Amino acid sequence: IVDARNITKDFGDFRALDDVSLQVKQGEVVCILGPSGSGKSTLLRCLNHLERPNEGAVWIDNDLIGYKEENGVLRELSSAALAKQRTKLAMVFQRFNLFGHRTALENVTEGPVQVLGVSQAEAKRKALELLKRVGLSDKAKNYPNALSGGQQQRVAIARALSMEPTVMLFDEPTSALDPELVGEVLHVMKSLAQSGMTMVVVTHEIGFAREVADRIVFMDEGKVVLDDTVTEVLNSTNPRARDFLDAVL
Ligand code: ATP
Ligand code: MG
Repeated sequence: IVDARNITKDFGDFRALDDVSLQVKQGEVVCILGPSGSGKSTLLRCLNHLERPNEGAVWIDNDLIGYKEENGVLRELSSAALAKQRTKLAMVFQRFNLFGHRTALENVTEGPVQVLGVSQAEAKRKALELLKRVGLSDKAKNYPNALSGGQQQRVAIARALSMEPTVMLFDEPTSALDPELVGEVLHVMKSLAQSGMTMVVVTHEIGFAREVADRIVFMDEGKVVLDDTVTEVLNSTNPRARDFLDAVL
């Protein structure tokens, strides 16, 4: 369902991604591990075309991201068309980037109303359902500054879900949280995974990867070094992976 092929991304003369390919099947959970600067965030951003790869291409659901074919020629999508296409990929960031002047409920209704053209009433009904799913029924009217970090991140997940994405991308969703708030967010992510959501998760939470992931991708210096089952990767003898894993395990 996710098919990224031979992605290369340069920033000036720095190669952040070097011929990276990633395939994710429907319902699969893939965790991406790797040291700081290895290109994990850049890969996620290339998947949803927040960054345009220099080489390679991404298909989601057999849809080429960022381009359309016209008379055999590839053209870049307009920003509106790209925004529409991006709804297939919902991204949850490290820092909960909720709209600060909107309530939890409004944060979750915004996308469906503005981008998907869903009616206000229908969006609200669905948003309440999603807030319930992330355990925040009683916080619908709270503004972000009246929510804990963990609660804000769960609103961000509900908001991502409101767009009915094909795949959810998480970029270190718990690394900005106080330790006691990490569990509640991982719990929501775990139940999402169990509901069959296709997920790509950049994380340092090895426990989560061990419990939930179907595969682990280990990246280093812009390359995919390992892409294998959890057991294989965690027991890998690859020296670069070993260095990293021994430090976090
Ligand atoms: P971390 O674990 O610290 O989040 P990461 O694996 O997500 O690291 P990336 O953010 O993908 O790493 O960055 C990969 C490399 O690309 C880094 O060396 C970074 O400095 C560089 N880089 C990322 N974005 C840009 C940019 N917009 N301009 C220039 N260099 C960039
Ligand atoms: Mg990153």
